[in-house]
Order: sequence, then structure tokens, then C-alpha cells
Amino acid sequence: MADKIQSIRGMNDILPDETPAWQFIESRLRQLLKSYNYDEIRFPIVEKTALFKRSIGEVTDIVEKEMYTFEDRNGDSLTLRPEGTAVCVRAGIQNGLLVNQQQRLWYIGPMFRHERPQKGRYRQFHQLGVEVFGLSGPDIDAELIMMSARFWKMLGLQDSVTLQLNSLGTAQAREQYRSVLVDYLQQHSELLDEDSQRRLQTNPLRILDSKNPAIQEMIEQAPRLMEHLDDESRQHFADLCAYLDSVGIAYEINTRLVRGLDYYNRTVFEWVTDKLGAQGTVCAGGRYDGLVKQLGGRETPAVGFAMGLERLVLLVQQEQLKNYIKQPHAVLLMMGERAQAAGLALSEQLRDALPKVRIFNICGGGSFKSQMKRADKSQAEIALILGDDELDKQLITVKYLRQKADNKPQQESLSQDQLIELFKTMLTKNALTEQ
Ligand code: ATP
Ligand code: MG
Repeated sequence: MADKIQSIRGMNDILPDETPAWQFIESRLRQLLKSYNYDEIRFPIVEKTALFKRSIGEVTDIVEKEMYTFEDRNGDSLTLRPEGTAVCVRAGIQNGLLVNQQQRLWYIGPMFRHERPQKGRYRQFHQLGVEVFGLSGPDIDAELIMMSARFWKMLGLQDSVTLQLNSLGTAQAREQYRSVLVDYLQQHSELLDEDSQRRLQTNPLRILDSKNPAIQEMIEQAPRLMEHLDDESRQHFADLCAYLDSVGIAYEINTRLVRGLDYYNRTVFEWVTDKLGAQGTVCAGGRYDGLVKQLGGRETPAVGFAMGLERLVLLVQQEQLKNYIKQPHAVLLMMGERAQAAGLALSEQLRDALPKVRIFNICGGGSFKSQMKRADKSQAEIALILGDDELDKQLITVKYLRQKADNKPQQESLSQDQLIELFKTMLTKNALTEQ
């Protein structure tokens, strides 16, 4: 036998078992984004390496060690996109979407980072990204947070996640704070690990985000950026908090939240859960007013977030939210040659009448017993049985495979019209969970 070729470590197949949870999440995301009037944008998976170096920042985890970078046949350096914001900005500038306009955009798709694979952390993973351009006020920051909060409710996850909020102020305020922070960190430099030593010179704020337990307490005592904010940023943050208060969205102000990318200013936030171990952030975002200009466009305020879909799928599965559906309403058994032709036609007619109905045809024939076995396995609610007898009487035998209503027979014969009525009841009964 030939060797089996395996997939790449950290790049997973999503199997038929799991796709219902994905579809459940994705269909609700689309519904949510539509209800806020956001527009979808699609862009390539591969970009010039310079795009990510210039936007995410040279001294970040992503650019230093996580990018899939390669030379193409022309010798150009290309990179599989590790995130979407920079690409969205590039596409916006290139296609003239950002000049004197407001845009509220979203995208969904795979991202690539060479990280150590573990639960909730993969090398190919999927994000939903939302980016808004041309609005500078805290009201739009609030809208994005409200939108994400609504999404947790739609998934039934509102009790599983909490919101952390911080402000990074302006670039100038951060510059001033940076020297205060470096002074403090230098006083404790003996505690700093190698990574942090290096970042002391290049990107000291990132040290605040360190997960190294040995320096947690020292970091805890460090001067806080929140206390060095410029007046405007302070007001922006206060207004944002007031908007969130007005709709009852709870948040925790986490002054150590700096985010792993260089382009953020003012608002940053993360939705975190304690139900996924170390990989607890399910959604992260913030304002990046300088990025459009930095990538060659005109100065344009911007704010956005990205959700990690794998982590959401894990949460949804873990919470055993069975409100996404994968089993068919009905499974169709066709006994004999005549029934085979009539059955295929019947299930087409049922789909014409009720586009939402899910019917699983047992193809390939077989004895009643073997077809019944497959019917049970399909987990359908009802079996439709069609044989010569039914055809002669123009009826369909309906067998209830799962819980049947009291004082209803286990099995009955219905006309096609009666069958359509039965499906209508089934569809209304499950209206909330139908996708
Ligand atoms: P983390 O701190 O978990 O590494 P990050 O700050 O690198 O996250 P972002 O770049 O802000 O993450 O990406 C937004 C979201 O995308 C994360 O909150 C997470 O849900 C998801 N995500 C990021 N990296 C991965 C990955 N390697 N595998 C799965 N999901 C990921
Ligand atoms: Mg990361």
C-alpha cells in the first residue's frame, strides 16, 4: 500500500460531525451583521509580506515568529494572511473605498500563524472580522461591542464570556508613558526574561501582556497607561463606558490589556471565557486610527474586531447547545422499482412546497429491514414509506421514529396534502432553531 499523505500539523479538516456547529455560528453571524447593516468584503489569502510587517509591527509575535512567508516564482516575498485588518485596509485604499466615505465591513475566512498547535490554537484557523472606517467617535466603538454582545446572546453564550476594556490613548500619550514604563521596568530588569529584555528597547508595552508567571506581580505594580491618557482619549473612554452602561453591558477595565498588534490606539477590548483553558479570548479588537495613513491612504479613523471561530465552536459544543440542527425531518424509504421513481418525484415535490424541509432519501434500495436500519441511524423524526401498496392507494405511510404525541398511532397513512400539513407543524414547532 502507498504511504498515506497526512495534513499539515495544526491545519485541520472540519468533519461532517462538526460542520453543523460551524453553520449554526456562521448563519447567525450573517443574520447579525445584516441587522446592523454591515457589508461583506472578500480579499485574497496571500499578500505581499511588507503589508503585514508594516502594519502589525516588526516586533510582535506574529511578525517575529508566526508568519507563513515564502518566495514565489518571481522571487517576491509573499505571506499567508495571519489576520484580516491589514488586508482590509489595503483593499480599502486600493479600491478607493475609504476617501470621504464611511464603511462598515465584515469578512470571514482562514488565517495562518505558525504557532504551537493545542486546543483552541491552530496554524490554520478562522476569523470573522468586522472593520469600520471613517468614524472617530466612541458611539461606533460602542456599536461594535453591542453587536458582539448581541451575538453571544444569539448563541446562548451570554453567561460564558466577559468583556475586558482598556484605552491606549494617542500615540503621543503612549510615547510619554513608554518612558515612564521603561524607567520602572529597568529597575526590575533582573526579573525580565530574554524576550522581555529585548522588548524593553523595542516594544516595552508588550511586556505588560507577558504570560510569564515570574513577572506577574512586578507587572501588576507597574505604572498604568490609563493614568497617562491625554484628555481627549480619557473623554472618549468615559463616553464609551457610559454607552455600554446605558444598555447594561458589563465590563471590566483591564489596564494591562495592550493587544499583540502595534496599530491600536484608544479603545481596545477582548471578550474572554474561562471555559477553554489558556486559549480564553474569543473576540478581540480596538481602534486603529493611524493604520490607513501608515499604509499609504489618507488619514482615516477606524475600529474593528475579530472573532476566533474555532474557539466559538468549542464553546458551543462544550455548552452542549443542541439548538443547532443536523438531522433530517424525514427519511424516505422506497420499496421496489415503481416506488423508486415515484419516491424521488415525491421528495422533489415536498421540497418545492416547503423549501426548509430536510428530507433524506435512502438511495440504493435494499430490503425493508436494511432501509429501516439506515432510517434509524439518520436520526430523522419521521420515516416516509412508499411501496406498491401506498402507490395504489395514493397514500404515504408515515412512521414516527422518535417521541410521538400521546394517543397518536406509531404509524399512519397520509395523503400528500396531509403530509405537507404535518411538515408545516414540525417546522413551526422548531422555528427558533431552524437555520
Ligand atoms: P492569543 O492571545 O490567543 O494568541 P491574539 O491576540 O494573537 O490571540 P488576535 O490576533 O487578536 O489574537 O486574533 C483575534 C482572535 O482570533 C483571538 O481572540 C482568537 O479567538 C483567534 N485566534 C488567534 N490566533 C489563533 C490561533 N492560532 N488559533 C485559533 N484561534 C486564534
Ligand atoms: Mg497570538
